[in-house]
Order: sequence, then C-alpha cells, then structure tokens
Amino acid sequence: MYKAYIISTGTELMLGSTMDSNSVFLSEQLAAAGIKVIGKSTVGDSAEYIRAAFENGVNMADIVISSGGMGPTSDDLTKEVACAVMGSEMIVFDEEVKRLEDFFRRRKRSMPECNLKQAMFPREAKILKNSRGTAPGMYLKKDGKVVILLPGPPREMQNMFSNEVEPLLKQDFPAVNQAARKTIKVLGPGESQVEEMLGELMHAVDGYSLALLAQDGEVHIKITAEGKELLDSQEILAGVLKQIEEKMGKGIFGYDDDSLEAMVGDLISRQGKTLALAESCTAGLLAKMITDIPGSSRYFWGAVASYSNDAKMKLLGVRDATLREFGAVSSETAAEMVRGIIEKSGVELGLAITGIAGPDGGSEEKPAGLVYIALADAGSCWVKEMRFVGGRDAVRILAAKTALDLLRRYLLYGGLQ
Ligand code: AMP
Ligand code: MG
Repeated sequence: MYKAYIISTGTELMLGSTMDSNSVFLSEQLAAAGIKVIGKSTVGDSAEYIRAAFENGVNMADIVISSGGMGPTSDDLTKEVACAVMGSEMIVFDEEVKRLEDFFRRRKRSMPECNLKQAMFPREAKILKNSRGTAPGMYLKKDGKVVILLPGPPREMQNMFSNEVEPLLKQDFPAVNQAARKTIKVLGPGESQVEEMLGELMHAVDGYSLALLAQDGEVHIKITAEGKELLDSQEILAGVLKQIEEKMGKGIFGYDDDSLEAMVGDLISRQGKTLALAESCTAGLLAKMITDIPGSSRYFWGAVASYSNDAKMKLLGVRDATLREFGAVSSETAAEMVRGIIEKSGVELGLAITGIAGPDGGSEEKPAGLVYIALADAGSCWVKEMRFVGGRDAVRILAAKTALDLLRRYLLYGGLQ
C-alpha cells in the first residue's frame, strides 16, 4: 500500500481559532483511494517548522500532501519551503501571470506585486487549477516522491483535490489492494453500547475492521473489508454487513451518506402523509432539521414553537389543569400537545417535544435532560420518556433526533417499536 503524510500549516491552527478540518477530509479521501496515511503534522507559519514537517514526510512516505500557506502574503511560505526541500528551483510561469492579471482586471483592481509569487513554480511541477480562488496548487513528482500543495480555505482545497489531484493520484498510485467500505448508521444506543452489541465482531481479524464514530447521538459503524481483489473485499463486506444488520436490527436508520432527516422525509412522502410539530424545549430545531431537506414542503405542514405554558394553552389547547397537575414537562402535557397540533393542523401525523434542556431548571424528580416525546396519528398516541445526558445543545439535538427516529420506526413498523 502506498503511504501518505499530511501537513497542515497555519498559525491560526496553533491558536485553536481554526479547527484542522482539512486533514480530516484528506485522510478520508486518501483512505478511499486505497492510500495509507501514516502520519500528520500541524505547524504554524514558520519556515523552520514547515521545513521539518516536509523533511519528515518525504523521508517516511511516498506522497506528502499539504494545505495552507499558498496565498500571496509574506506568511505564506509552504511552496518556497517545499520546493527547497525537494531541491526544485522556481521560475515564473507566464500563463499564470496572465491568469492573475485577468483575475484582477475583471474585478477592476490592480494586481499587488506580492501576487506574482503565485505564478512561480518549479519547471517540472504540474499546476493545479483553483476554480474558487487565486492560489493555484502544485503537484510535483520527483525522485520517486510526490509532493502536493493545496490552498488552505476548505472549499478551495476540497474542490482542487476532487477535480485536480484525484485523477493524478489514480494514475500514479493505482490502488493495489482494493478495499470495500460501508458505513452503517444507528440511533439510540451509545457508542459503548454499540460496541457491546457487536461483541466478537469488533475484534474479528478475517479481512475486515470496524471503527465506531459517535456524532450528535448517532453512532456510525464504519466497515473496511480488504481481500486480495475487489471482488473478495466485496464478499467479505457483504458477510460482515449481514451479521451487523442482524445484531443492530431496527436501530439502523441508514447507510453511508444517508441522513436521518432525509430517510424520514423519504418514508413519509412515499406514504403520502403529512406531519405537524409542537416543539417546546427544541423550539423549532426539529422543524429546521426537517426543512433542511429540499422538497420537505410536500410532507411538512409546519411547527408551533410553544415554549411558554401560555403558548401551549392558546396555540395547542393544552389544559391549564394538566399543566398545573403534571407540569409542562410531563407525558400528559406531551400527549395534549401532540393531540392539539393534530387537531389544529388537520394532518395525519404529529410529533411533540417537551423537556428540560438545562443546564438550569431541573429538580431531583425532573432533572435536566428529561424529555417527553409524543407521536400521534388520527387514532393513537404514544409518549416516550427519555433521559439525555449532556449540555443544552446536546439535549436539544438528541431530543429532535430521537423524535425523528420514533417517527421513522412508526412509519416502517407501526407504533413505537
Ligand atoms: P491559507 O491558504 O494558509 O492562507 O489559509 C486560508 C484560510 O484557510 C485560513 O485562514 C483558514 O481559515 C483556512 N484553513 C487553513 N488551513 C486549514 C485547515 N487545515 N483546516 C481548516 N481550515 C483551514
Ligand atoms: Mg495561512
């Protein structure tokens, strides 16, 4: 397997003001291309440290790929340093000068002198087009190594990687070991619970590996199967997939790029139903998630953000007596909220959420994180009590996602399965 080393440069990455998301993207892409990432460096805008990172990378790996420091200013040093490490002299590329001059002319600005350095590359380098900014990238193949330099802004970097770098990598580093990959997404059990449910499968050694990733209440099970040929890998993958599906059952809401919102949207629109929401502690968060999906107007009636008791009574018809006897955060209130929204909207399906997002407002009996989610159709109403752990944002996200998941299970299996 070919080896790659990733370098991220930028003082902002040292200060914690910017998260190094570029190296995460590049890791994923390289793994998918069958290239093994053996190490990473994150360094500030200092020639000394950038040089050390490149020397290290070139020593250890076949491919060194960096992002950042490709701009025109004096703290953008990556190209100069990388070329020095590779022993490549830079020259001015006339067509790049013209491209830059054009760029500024179209914007009715004169080109600052310092931009000229963006037109300088080693003669043997391949210049990578930047369709979203002025800084081109570079692909330099020399002495059996490949050095790839990309700009820092994530949109520019990702675009350049997909359009320019991937085809070159495919050509220069054809994947020898064809791995097959799939991600299974579940909601409900936490990461350690999923690990327990998978049991022996987690530690199996016959040609595959599993990695778990927890994200906003979802757990993603990433399977990588590696056989001698792609066909073997696919066969191994199919076998593991089946075993995991048996163990995780109805908890699986999707695969690979599937999102819970889109899966639920697809189910509800295929069943020709319409949904209305009554949201208290999430106050519109679930409505936002649902309407993030284009075309949601086909199945989404709307939501009432009934945050106060007064709103619950006036907009949803929740009874004063219910609120006084059981409280706003109770299964009784959740049930009246959902019946209220179905009645007011006249649609088939309703979801209601009421809970204590925290960090304050909880008591021993009703702690922060206690959430009631109600689901109703014309005939029946179900309420589920959840006790989430986490900060205010986490509790609200978990509440909204769990509500969506209850709806998914209702649409697929009926009731609250
Ligand atoms: P540069 O190409 O070094 O001028 O970077 C321009 C901008 O890209 C920086 O100000 C950051 O906002 C962003 N950026 C640079 N490196 C990274 C990285 N590794 N991950 C995410 N964003 C980055
Ligand atoms: Mg920078």
